[in-house]
Amino acid sequence: MPVLIYIDHSEGKIKKGSLEALAYGAALARQTQIEAHGFLAGSFPEELALLGKYGITKVYHAKPDEAISDAALVKAIEQVVSSSNADTLVFSFNQTAKTLAPLLAARLRAGLVTGAVALPETAAGFVVKKAIYSGKAFAKIRINSAVKIVCINQNIFDITETTGNAEVTDIPLTATDNHIQVVEKKKNTEEVSLTDAEIVVAGGMGLKGPENWHLITDLANALDAAAACSRPVSDNGWRPHHEHVGQTGTQIAPNLYLAVGISGAIQHIGGVNRSKIIAAINKDADSPIFKVADYGMTGDLFEIVPQLTEAIKKA
Ligand code: FAD
Repeated sequence: MPVLIYIDHSEGKIKKGSLEALAYGAALARQTQIEAHGFLAGSFPEELALLGKYGITKVYHAKPDEAISDAALVKAIEQVVSSSNADTLVFSFNQTAKTLAPLLAARLRAGLVTGAVALPETAAGFVVKKAIYSGKAFAKIRINSAVKIVCINQNIFDITETTGNAEVTDIPLTATDNHIQVVEKKKNTEEVSLTDAEIVVAGGMGLKGPENWHLITDLANALDAAAACSRPVSDNGWRPHHEHVGQTGTQIAPNLYLAVGISGAIQHIGGVNRSKIIAAINKDADSPIFKVADYGMTGDLFEIVPQLTEAIKKA
């Protein structure tokens, strides 16, 4: 009864969250002495057998590209689960998981836990620790169903590599009766994607107006980072809504999150508190952002940010 890991990819690269899901699935397989398998849909430039280096012994490759739809993927994964007897499905908790995991849970009568932050305890049943209340508390959920689905939070599990090749099995996708049809895919921006970025620089109302936004983008460019903003910044129309991070915006988990002129309201922190390191620049030493920041600079961002950008460019 193998673990099956959904491998999400974009522009020829496996997404960071899926690499973490692979590490999680492989570790779970080792813990319970079973095999870990992967499921990948669509064209991928690398030889799929090489994905064995992430600890999986088999890759199910669903194609062709033209037939990819949520309904077709659900059907194909269902078939793989049934033919391989996989009893645990692992996803990175991203947009794909938010669509596919509940559909699969309903089809497979599977218990589903999202936001997992630790390997399940398997000594007595299957108990998953998950983050609740925007990461302020944890809950332990026991999944009693035969098939279990776990969506893991990003930036919790280290990516691991080993040696070995995976066996590749092609899975034909068939266009099914889709309730939803993708009409067009449009990229919001050519810039680094917020959810995949290793570093995110975000600006808040402390920037005073859109005319000063170059301070954020210059710093982001110097750090090869994605730029983001607090919600009032996008509500005011200074920046587009897809850049707003927080409870009601994009939830991010970069290695470094740098908040510039952001007060650190609880709704903002709820979307960024899974960052490995939080740093802040704020002129108010009592600002709540400093309660969650690992590093902080108290001072005027209009003085600090240009100097910081120049120093990083020179480094
Ligand atoms: P402010 O709170 O105005 O803070 C500006 C900061 O800039 C201050 O700390 C100030 O000291 C500092 N500053 C000013 N000038 C300078 C300077 N020259 N140099 C350095 N620092 C300076 N917000 C989100 O961001 N994301 C969400 O998803 C979100 N969801 C919400 C959902 C709900 C239901 C509600 C009610 C609110 C939500 N909010 C969200 C809004 C949130 O409560 C805050 O109002 C918002 O995060 C504040 O944004 P800010 O920090 O940019 O602005």
